[in-house]
Amino acid sequence: MSGMPHGMTQTAQAQAHIDSSAVAHNLAQIRKRLGTSRARIWATVKADAYGHGIARVLPGLTDADGLAVRDLPEAQACRAAGWRGPILVYGGLHRPDEVALLGASDLHLVISHPAQLAWLQAAAPSAQPPSVWLRYAGDTRLGGFDDADYAQAYGRCAELREQGRIADIGHLNHYARSEDADGIAEADLHFRGAIEGRPGPISTCNCAALLLHPDHAAQTDWIRPGLMLYGASPIPDVHHGPGLGLKPAMRFTARLLATQALRQGAGLGYRGAFTAPRDMRVGLVSCGYADGYPRHAQTGTPLLVDGQPTRLLGRPAMDTLAVDLTDIDVPGPDAVVVLWGDPRNTVESVAASAGTICAALLTGLTPRVAMLGD
Ligand SMILES: *Cc1c(COP(=O)(O)O)cnc(C)c1O
Repeated sequence: MSGMPHGMTQTAQAQAHIDSSAVAHNLAQIRKRLGTSRARIWATVKADAYGHGIARVLPGLTDADGLAVRDLPEAQACRAAGWRGPILVYGGLHRPDEVALLGASDLHLVISHPAQLAWLQAAAPSAQPPSVWLRYAGDTRLGGFDDADYAQAYGRCAELREQGRIADIGHLNHYARSEDADGIAEADLHFRGAIEGRPGPISTCNCAALLLHPDHAAQTDWIRPGLMLYGASPIPDVHHGPGLGLKPAMRFTARLLATQALRQGAGLGYRGAFTAPRDMRVGLVSCGYADGYPRHAQTGTPLLVDGQPTRLLGRPAMDTLAVDLTDIDVPGPDAVVVLWGDPRNTVESVAASAGTICAALLTGLTPRVAMLGD
């Protein structure tokens, strides 16, 4: 199942080990945070489950109430992997001809602009019409209807429902500042104002909103967590995943290729990205930015060699990165290097060191990496 190209040895290939039981654990942690609330969970698996692979994580999501994806082809991938429950499609319809993909049951389309309603209007009524969730533009304004247009869009949906072209109509909002303690109160007032007097279930709250605004999350009908399912924290400045009771679902590893001495004053890497301040021992690892390890990671980024914490030296190259072995003993070449996914070197810590975010790293592994399931 490694997907390894012919002629490439196991040791030269970085690997991502996906643990679906960690996903199940994290989903249970999310549900625990909802307390006694009846809110249901759209488990967000867009971008091929944040780079983990939908089919690989699905065994860990049997307790989710629904899955959320970006587009209809991803919804089909969920069905092909065996998911029978509801599926929310954040992008709704991307083109008019996508209405041909609507035959499947229990589809929920997020509707963000008027053309999508016109496409639904033009489609032949189906035996299993989709439900729609009207997206409020809110304070992200990344699509959706603003105060001026929301009522009209809802009215058009009500007509489509009359005609049997859609099933239910829900309301969806996504907050721009759910990471902030004062980030959603006002945004939510606007949202509640726009939907007032228009019946339908309500979906709000990504992971950051669930963590920082639990009372609010408890009062919505459906929450939409993503990142925490995979064990990472949406507020890494405050907590890392393990501190929130989460388990990393991806362990990204490579192999030590060789070790070498580095004399005081010697440069390492292109343009001497690192200069040895003293005599050192350096390990070369078979992973680089062409695998999806961030090129902007800095000296000091944590990793584990043979289970022992150490640090990156200099900048990763395309195929290779260097680690500090000066103060640790390793059994020799071929030792396992954990690039991220251990509580001692979380993807959050690598993202922070590279000036990026966890989701960008998790979704950024390249086809050169062998993806391994349970
Ligand atoms: C991706 C996405 C989510 C999940 O976000 P996380 O920050 O990963 O919890 C929720 N809602 C919408 C609309 C999204 O696009």
